[in-house]
Amino acid sequence: MAERTGPVQAQHRAGEAAVQTAYSAFIRHTQVCAPCRKTGADCAEAAELRQAWRDARAAVAA
Ligand SMILES: [Zn+2]
Repeated sequence: MAERTGPVQAQHRAGEAAVQTAYSAFIRHTQVCAPCRKTGADCAEAAELRQAWRDARAAVAA
């Protein structure tokens, strides 16, 4: 089976990289943010990061 390459594949990979980046940003935030650590709930910034992660995943799925 030949590996498919091309614009679509490249775009998909870029999308997955964006998901990883967004996920890392969210996790890193929850590890250093006192309110997030204390309450276990998302603060406003965490909510934004989570939404960005969700958007990135939706973009990959589209
Ligand atoms: Zn936070």
